[in-house]
Amino acid sequence: MSEGRVVGIDLGTTNSLVAYMQGDTPVVIPGVDGSNLVPSVVALDPVPADGSRPTVTVGNTARKSLIQHPERAIYSVKRLMGRGVSEVQAELKFFPFRLADDVDATNLNEVPRIQLGEMRFTPPEISAYILRQLKRNAERFFGAPVTQAVITVPAYFNDAQRQATKDAGRMAGLEVLRLVNEPTAAALAYGLDRKKEGVIAVYDLGGGTFDISILKLKDGIFEVLSTNGDTHLGGDDIDNLLVAIALDEIRTEHNVDLRSHADAVQALRKSAIDAKITLSSKDAASFDMELPNGERYQREIPRAVYEQLIAPVLERTAGPCKQAMADANLEPADISEVVLVGGSTRIPAVQRLVDQLFNLTARGKKPHTELNPDEVVALGAAVQADILAGSAKATEDLLLLDVTPLSLGIEALGGVVAKIIPRNSTIPASATEHFTTGVEGQTNVAIHVLQGEREMAKDCRSLARFDLKGIPPMSAGLPRIEVKFLIDADGILRVTAREQRSGQESQIEVKPTYGLTDEQVESMILDSFDHAEEDFAKRLLIEARLEAETILAAVEKAPKHPAWQLLTDDERLTIDALKSVVQILLAGEDVNALRAGTVSLDQATRRFAELMMEDAVSSAIRGKTMDAAGDELGKEINAPHPMAAAEFK
Ligand code: ADP
Ligand code: MG
Repeated sequence: MSEGRVVGIDLGTTNSLVAYMQGDTPVVIPGVDGSNLVPSVVALDPVPADGSRPTVTVGNTARKSLIQHPERAIYSVKRLMGRGVSEVQAELKFFPFRLADDVDATNLNEVPRIQLGEMRFTPPEISAYILRQLKRNAERFFGAPVTQAVITVPAYFNDAQRQATKDAGRMAGLEVLRLVNEPTAAALAYGLDRKKEGVIAVYDLGGGTFDISILKLKDGIFEVLSTNGDTHLGGDDIDNLLVAIALDEIRTEHNVDLRSHADAVQALRKSAIDAKITLSSKDAASFDMELPNGERYQREIPRAVYEQLIAPVLERTAGPCKQAMADANLEPADISEVVLVGGSTRIPAVQRLVDQLFNLTARGKKPHTELNPDEVVALGAAVQADILAGSAKATEDLLLLDVTPLSLGIEALGGVVAKIIPRNSTIPASATEHFTTGVEGQTNVAIHVLQGEREMAKDCRSLARFDLKGIPPMSAGLPRIEVKFLIDADGILRVTAREQRSGQESQIEVKPTYGLTDEQVESMILDSFDHAEEDFAKRLLIEARLEAETILAAVEKAPKHPAWQLLTDDERLTIDALKSVVQILLAGEDVNALRAGTVSLDQATRRFAELMMEDAVSSAIRGKTMDAAGDELGKEINAPHPMAAAEFK
């Protein structure tokens, strides 16, 4: 493919990764800092002294500023993707960042914008920063542009969330060839598609989310039978628990309320995470930190105590697992393989719970843990990317089937929901239902597309609205309106309505209610390009100014140096004149003129610099000679050098 490589991207809530296919093996591409995981954090540096636009940072750099300037960083943005203002507001209760002041919470079509320092961004724009970082990492690795990607999304992501992810890709300059469900990607990474058949459970416990998916494999084809989970359950809950316990002990044992020391709480959180990670492989871990009152908080946590503490958190994954099996009409005995995904599945107690939930040991089975649980989704995305790039051989005809997480339908008379595609239907899917009018001579029909399991439209999630217009007036009940739902391979929904007697049709592109319009996406892309240029120009100017200031400072001191007297009058005049020119240019904004002026000044002072250097060398040598003479009397050392120096004196 002339376009170059297609990469696979896991755009995670906590961490994101990019991977590619090296021969037959998927591998993760490391960042400049050598780490495979890019924390999904975006931060805005403080505004520079000259008032220019602050720099946006991503990943580990951004995570550091999350600690120093929590109000200037955004994390877990995946939770906000494709969501409406009110949903985002509800979600933000858990986070320190907030919506931009001018967001109209009553306008359902408004895409929320999050305030980040002085700037505001929509969730897809924030995700685009993360994707751009991954794209850059890949480009640096290949030494060539990367323009196409496969991005993974949770199996339960709805239409708007999928669309928002695609938008983010576009803003980052990536053509998203396919969105793949995370559990499907994990199964691909393990090459489970090569097995003839079986039922696979993918248990994914990450930083802040838990997902369980049941896949069915038949003749090398995956079908997602069911999905379940908890959108607020993961490693963060364990961190919070350990922090809360430590805070409590510090208060009772040391009489210090650390909660009023933001830095100390952050430090404590870091120790808690370190302790948690240690406890995944060792029998005990310890906390040791200095308190603001000078005392030390020291605490040893044995594995047994830790496991007791976290048991209630882990236990919360059991319900969704049982529900997913029930939805798929399966028993643990029907599950042939279990794949562990997510950093938190490194916890031995999690592995034991999984063993128990799926009755593995008793059946002589083990869960798949050979691949890094935090890399496995990205690796699978790379496998899928390779298939789409057309270079796959054996897996060429691999088709991926996924499932709709919630039922889809339209609002019918009386505000009830008419389901058209039931939940857990495999996709791509299409279904058609027939409707009619309820009013005499009705010429317009309002189609309200809904998602959810509840009976009443008001209790379901509104995805889109559109009107079928121009139906010839007929008696109520006579028109025959066909509503067709089509979900494509990316899980994106399109709805069409057609009155069959008259042939009147509304070929309406359903825009998710909370999605961005094409125009908005385009303008955001333009915006980021515009600013990228502006940022670049600003940086050039700042650099040019620094350079000019450095040389001016040196020229300022020149007349005091003995070498200045060795220059001709002309040379001195030229330097003085150019100095004034550079001083004037420094106050302006013309980068090119400033650089040209600086170069001229630099050239004019070159001979002076040489003279200064020789002077420095000769005095250094003189000093050394005298020292040496003092140390080693009678020896002839460095004889020629004082001569050379004399020439200039
Ligand atoms: P996400 O899919 O949410 O982006 P990851 O799969 O990268 O997240 O998992 C991140 C979580 O895994 C964090 O809570 C992190 O602390 C946890 N984690 C990583 N390594 C370990 C370990 N060795 N033991 C326990 N938890 C771990
Ligand atoms: Mg993940």
